[in-house]
Amino acid sequence: MEKPKLYLFLYFCAIAWCAFPQNNGWTPSTYAHLENKMTKADGNIRYFVNPKLNIAERDSLIELTAKYIRLNLALIEESSFNDSVYIVFAGNKDEMIKYVGTPISGVTLLKDDYVPENMIYCIPKVLKHELMHMLVLLKWKPTMGDSLKHPSWLEEGLAVYADPEAEDLGHKSIEGEYALLYQNKKLLPLRLLNEFPTITTDDTSQIRIAYIQSGYIVKFLIERYGIGKLKKLWVGNVDFNKIYGIDMDGVIKEMNKDIGQKYFSSPKYGKHFN
Ligand SMILES: [Zn+2]
Repeated sequence: MEKPKLYLFLYFCAIAWCAFPQNNGWTPSTYAHLENKMTKADGNIRYFVNPKLNIAERDSLIELTAKYIRLNLALIEESSFNDSVYIVFAGNKDEMIKYVGTPISGVTLLKDDYVPENMIYCIPKVLKHELMHMLVLLKWKPTMGDSLKHPSWLEEGLAVYADPEAEDLGHKSIEGEYALLYQNKKLLPLRLLNEFPTITTDDTSQIRIAYIQSGYIVKFLIERYGIGKLKKLWVGNVDFNKIYGIDMDGVIKEMNKDIGQKYFSSPKYGKHFN
């Protein structure tokens, strides 16, 4: 490079350096149990990430979070989210053991006597799922008093509806996966679904089925009856029959009738999975 061009190049590098400082706001964490992370606050959210990620990768997690919050708020027809939340990204499930004692993909915890902040610990893959838990808990829980009165399938189902990609569906949609379970007579009876997520079974595939089934039930309820009724059910002051004018068994029969007609009564049988 000739000298004048080199000076010009260095001059622009210097400007870029000043405009975009090296760490772009990321600093080593001094928070208890999170000392090995880099941290950065953006609005109401503080992020904790692996220092091995480069700046662009760290910032892309912030952008992704903002996008997922926007999409999830739209699904539950809420407009804003200003509560303080800490999000701790783990590199893999093994790292989750350090934070929550077990190799799960993610967990959402509300601030209480033992948890100093509203916290999400997760691998990036389930971020949108955990954000939906957090949004709904912070938006809807204050209206419901002290105790959760709704079944866990409703809570998990809403998170699966928001983020079906986290469920390893391959090329199928949540509806396509449900249809396949229906076809193979693998759907869980309501009794078992109501035990979710503490289904006691040796067949671990039933846990996965419970997530898929819950997700599709919530999808059906929202798309057929609207988010307002689902919120009433979630808040838990009114029982299912009073809200929907039909019992849950009846709704599931409706769902399965629709699935049967859409997927299995057509001569193009089998081509509707997507
Ligand atoms: Zn969940």
